[in-house]
Amino acid sequence: MAMTPAPPAHVAGQLRDLGVRSGGVLLVHTSFSRTGPVEGGPAGLIAALRQALGPRGTLVMPSMSSDDEHPFDSARTPCPDMGVTADTFWRGGGVLRSGSPHAFAAVGPRAAEITAPHPIDPPHGADSPVGRARDHDGQVLLLGVGHDADTTIHLAENEVGVRYRRAVHVTVLERGRPVRFDYTEIDHCCARFALVDDWLEADRLQRRGPVAHGVGRLARARDIVRVVTARLRENETVFLHPRGSDVECDEAWASLGRTAP
Ligand SMILES: [Zn+2]
Repeated sequence: MAMTPAPPAHVAGQLRDLGVRSGGVLLVHTSFSRTGPVEGGPAGLIAALRQALGPRGTLVMPSMSSDDEHPFDSARTPCPDMGVTADTFWRGGGVLRSGSPHAFAAVGPRAAEITAPHPIDPPHGADSPVGRARDHDGQVLLLGVGHDADTTIHLAENEVGVRYRRAVHVTVLERGRPVRFDYTEIDHCCARFALVDDWLEADRLQRRGPVAHGVGRLARARDIVRVVTARLRENETVFLHPRGSDVECDEAWASLGRTAP
């Protein structure tokens, strides 16, 4: 049976009930297929988010390229892996997008600060859109996705200084020519970021509620960083799967020069 598309004004009310702050900074990770349908499609969901934030609020979404082999062009490069809502958002009127393969897009009074130039390495450190959203006491909203999509956890990994890395590359323009840029990134398969649900909810730092036809999770970025930082200080490898689970976690273990359990 087909679901009735949710009106954006109704979704905006649900977002406010969940705790989205009018006038705040909101970083949103989405799966439209697990949240919709919404009247107007992904653009309708974006309208609902902007309505909940009000004119003084700033909406932020990930906008990073999936293409490591070509230079990033903020006016053209799509971000299909971030979902159709994020890939619709950066194309919208008045929306700013940072000029990095690890781009974020934003609209609202803080958009220029949040999307100002940021380093490729590390992608999600203190001087990144995610770090700046945290500095503005931003909230993180997960719509139809879990914490495996939550880039603010990578910010916590950076701030703790976890030592695991994976070798990655992107392509950048140097004097007009494409050049491969190799570096190492704090990364793994990220599936165990799902642990953060229980950590936050044990301290009542996350709210869950209905948004359109899906589930939204909302927490303050500062709380996510604080809770994750404490866990990583106890156990640096808490997010890494046991050996043989997946290539990404095995690479992270290998970078530590340790045998995985
Ligand atoms: Zn893994």
